[in-house]
Amino acid sequence: MQLRYNYRAYPDASQRRALASAFGCARVVWNDCLRDRKEAHAAGLPYVKSADLSRLRITQAKHTEERAWLADVSAVVLQQSLRDLDTAYKNFFDSVKGKRQGRKVGPPRYKSKKDTRQSIRFNTNAFSLRDDGAVYVAKAGSLKVKCSRRLPAAPTSLTVTKDSCGRYFLSFVVDTEPDILPGLDVDVGIDLGLSAFAVLSDGSKIDSPRFLRRAEKKLKRLQRELSRKAKGSKNRAKARIKVARQHAKVADRRRDWHHKASTQIIRDNQAVYVEDLAVSGLGRTRLAKSVHDAGWSAFVGMLEYKAALHGRTFAKVDRAFPSSQVCSACGFRDGPKPLHVREWTCGECGTVHDRDHNAARNVLFEGRRIVAAGRVETQNASWSAGKTRTKVPAQRGEAGSPRKGQPTQAGIPGL
Ligand SMILES: [Zn+2]
Repeated sequence: MQLRYNYRAYPDASQRRALASAFGCARVVWNDCLRDRKEAHAAGLPYVKSADLSRLRITQAKHTEERAWLADVSAVVLQQSLRDLDTAYKNFFDSVKGKRQGRKVGPPRYKSKKDTRQSIRFNTNAFSLRDDGAVYVAKAGSLKVKCSRRLPAAPTSLTVTKDSCGRYFLSFVVDTEPDILPGLDVDVGIDLGLSAFAVLSDGSKIDSPRFLRRAEKKLKRLQRELSRKAKGSKNRAKARIKVARQHAKVADRRRDWHHKASTQIIRDNQAVYVEDLAVSGLGRTRLAKSVHDAGWSAFVGMLEYKAALHGRTFAKVDRAFPSSQVCSACGFRDGPKPLHVREWTCGECGTVHDRDHNAARNVLFEGRRIVAAGRVETQNASWSAGKTRTKVPAQRGEAGSPRKGQPTQAGIPGL
């Protein structure tokens, strides 16, 4: 399977200029090619082939006056931009044809200079890891990278991004062999909690740590302050930067914490079942649109790839499944429960239930049933066979800053 490893990079002023023009050129190629395809489509003409676009919008464009500056950046960046556009189209077509699972994918959109996240991609011809820990990137030079632990294997591609706070990141894709953990005789169902972050079928609750809740609170306050500033004013611009910085801080901390929690769950259990919130939002009213939801899908994604990586079973339980209405003791369907009902007594067997704990137990039973029916085996098989090309973010502990008490390695050792 493929994992992503992220490192913070610190380009100097001239490197930042080189990267800025690469971001710009990649965006122009993307937009030029997208326009050609849109116009062809509008005129009833066939889909414009990549080879034609590559010739017209990259190779030949460099010799025209208005696109001569495309020659200043790595050709790999431009080719990858076109390839990314092809992938975006393929995802869109697959989604329309119903070949793609999950959320509907819209057609590719034009990119703007004002997009919060700028990115370019390189293949192995255009970057290399240096012995001194720096990363050489074509036409930008050797980028300084924050001290990190080593990559498990040679990377197959590199994405350079700049976020809205002006931070640069290098993200490597690495093919990883599964690291199968010793088998256990324990499984767990997990429900998205109302009061806690998540509730496990054994009755324990996972709550986000106080530092994260505090950071989220501060973000909300800064957003309120931003909305009160006059449009176009200097103070508004300042407040916007503050919000962006706090946003990044919250996202980083939340991700680190999700990694910790998901690793623990995967280590402790042979099989993990979760409720799937992605299923078309059926009957989903509670906690809708909350910070909670966004966090949950990222957390579930981590559980899924770590299960695949460590040889654990993972299954999602359909949201349509009424986990909060059924008595987990006797299976009686007790009817819908309003949100404020935290505890209820089964009308059939008299068991007193904590709402969230009962739901988690139901997720566990439904998950076991799905696995016994053999509905997830194929999914796991495809993971281990490496057919799934989804790239997932690797844990920070594996890839990010060194932990306390561990020897610090300067940068990424040469591979
Ligand atoms: Zn009952």
